[in-house]
Amino acid sequence: MVGTIEKDQLVKLTNCRFFPNDEELDDVSSDEDNNDEPATLQMPAGTILAVFEVDPYLSCSKSSCNNTKLITLKEENHYYMFCKHCTGRYNGSSANTFLRVIVLLEGEEMSKKVTIFAPQYKKIMQSRGLDATIVFDKEEMLQRIMKVIPVEIRYTLINNTVKDIVLKRTNLN
Ligand SMILES: [Zn+2]
Repeated sequence: MVGTIEKDQLVKLTNCRFFPNDEELDDVSSDEDNNDEPATLQMPAGTILAVFEVDPYLSCSKSSCNNTKLITLKEENHYYMFCKHCTGRYNGSSANTFLRVIVLLEGEEMSKKVTIFAPQYKKIMQSRGLDATIVFDKEEMLQRIMKVIPVEIRYTLINNTVKDIVLKRTNLN
């Protein structure tokens, strides 16, 4: 009989825990800026398993150009950098340092090559407390990325580009 009473009490306590009170609801709605788990549960989870290509480059600093890669052109004996998007001419010091990494992402129902750009790369490195700067040395950049792989993430994917990334808590250990 004592055992039955204890079981009833346990059920009541368990039920209580599943009713969100006002405080908990507030937490969920105000969660957008801090990348906490509850706000990101809708994002699919996956693991970055391999790196195919690492490409550090200078990109156009105009915000409307969305970090278009600058190309180097030669005019007589003079080199300059050119943006295909805005057709502007730039020198290195006025450009952004940017990065494109092609990785193998394995999700629950798919495994495919996707592209990660500088902001997402920095997020991954910072989550491990590693140097997130970009240097113009592909071999060096590859070695840095290999240190964190495999890495579990939650992500949003648009046209095979990882647009947003959240590191799972297990990576913080
Ligand atoms: Zn441009």
